[in-house]
Amino acid sequence: MTLTPKDAGWIEVICGSMFSGKTEELIRRLRRAQIAQMPTIIFKPRIDSRYSETHIVSHNKMKLESHLVNTPQEILHLAENASVVAIDEAQFFNDSILDVCKTLARQGKRVVVAGLDTDYRGVPFGPMPQLMCEADYLDKLRAICVQCGNPATYTQRTSNDTGQVVIGELDKYEARCRNCYQSPEDE
Ligand code: ZN
Repeated sequence: MTLTPKDAGWIEVICGSMFSGKTEELIRRLRRAQIAQMPTIIFKPRIDSRYSETHIVSHNKMKLESHLVNTPQEILHLAENASVVAIDEAQFFNDSILDVCKTLARQGKRVVVAGLDTDYRGVPFGPMPQLMCEADYLDKLRAICVQCGNPATYTQRTSNDTGQVVIGELDKYEARCRNCYQSPEDE
């Protein structure tokens, strides 16, 4: 990112499959903002309880302190004094996360949002499509297919659970490329 707005806020979205490094990238950006002495705050939905309740943790164990919220509206109040606002696992929020992000950006804040663009069925996940359309800056990250080593954009569920959300992921999902991904609808 070489050119960013002056005296104005914006929205950055980091999306991709599981294991594509979204949280790692979010943490990298937030660390740099903290080094630049910018007040930062990180949020994630209460549904995601893996590893750590009060931190966001990437698969490679990098972590930063985060606030658990039940609804997007809680973010507006808690983020009042921050100039950089990060939101991880955004796919789990309801659609009102979009207006919250737009409000924060209009207040002059930099908003960094990370989330799964599609679920294990390959279907757009929650509010992510709207967030991706609203983004001033959008990065779609790819994982590596565990079957063939190609870039992977799909999240393969390896268990038989059928809910959209299954907590405790690591052993239940794999990154797959377009060729190796098997849609659950085809089985
Ligand atoms: Zn593959």
